[in-house]
Amino acid sequence: RKGWLDKLKAGLRKTGSSIATVFTGTQIDDALYEELETALLMADTGVKATEHLLADLKRRVKDNKTTDPAAVKGLLAEAIADLLTPLQKRLVIGEHKPTVIMVAGVNGAGKTTSIGKLTRHLANEGATVLLAAADTFRAAAREQLAVWADRNTVEIITQEGGDPAAVSFDAVSAGKARGRDVVLVDTAGRLPTQLHLMEELKKIKRVVQKADATAPHEVLLVIDGNTGQNALMQVKAFDEALGLTGLVITKLDGTAKGGVICAIAREKPVPIYFIGVGEKLEDLETFDAKEFAQALLN
Ligand code: GDP
Repeated sequence: RKGWLDKLKAGLRKTGSSIATVFTGTQIDDALYEELETALLMADTGVKATEHLLADLKRRVKDNKTTDPAAVKGLLAEAIADLLTPLQKRLVIGEHKPTVIMVAGVNGAGKTTSIGKLTRHLANEGATVLLAAADTFRAAAREQLAVWADRNTVEIITQEGGDPAAVSFDAVSAGKARGRDVVLVDTAGRLPTQLHLMEELKKIKRVVQKADATAPHEVLLVIDGNTGQNALMQVKAFDEALGLTGLVITKLDGTAKGGVICAIAREKPVPIYFIGVGEKLEDLETFDAKEFAQALLN
């Protein structure tokens, strides 16, 4: 299954190619670095990560006594991979039973789809999963999650119009009573600026803790890879409210620029457990810093 890497490359190619063309000249000079700075900023890398990468790259060029611009591209790939390596972490379950995973995100980020994919991933690893539909207000959201539950043949705990925190409490209790390995709590999509909804998320977390003092064991944020620099703001805001343990970055098979992952690494390094590279159940991949760096510069 290496097809996903082609999808990732194709998705990143738009901006990736504009970074890559910086290195087609014959000289390593100020003009090259200026062009590279622009290309990185255009790819949503942000000022801080761009500055870091440029300084790191210049040091590598000096250390390696590099004179060929094409070789500089390879050094940039190494600099990006080094920046992103701390984000490369695997989601580990099994220490707690059930492992309670709370999932948040803004509407349309791909949260429900990612939960469906994650359920499949966990089932493939032999874990039994119980889903909690804590988006109690939107019938469509519950129905959509129920479809993913069906596809994966897993149980779902839901309650029409109930309190999201109460549903989450019930789900964690049921997960414990039934001996499930994982309870995945799907929360309603919300913007970080909707303060009452952010309070609701904090309440879900508090109430989950009442059902199991060690829970939630993971708090994931799903972000759309196409949201650019706004993704960094989302990571900061949701982390402040909930204390994030991991990210899922979706739609990297589309038109995402990808640079924002460097910005996250530099400014708010929350591990990336998974990336989404399509709409189907199997389109979920673990994040690999080196592969990502190479795809960005392909
Ligand atoms: P939610 O509102 O955050 O729950 O978002 P959904 O899970 O409903 O997803 C919104 C849209 O994005 C749907 O059309 C999904 O099929 C699509 N989507 C989700 N993840 C991916 C992905 O990794 N790649 C692509 N191309 N589309 C995705």
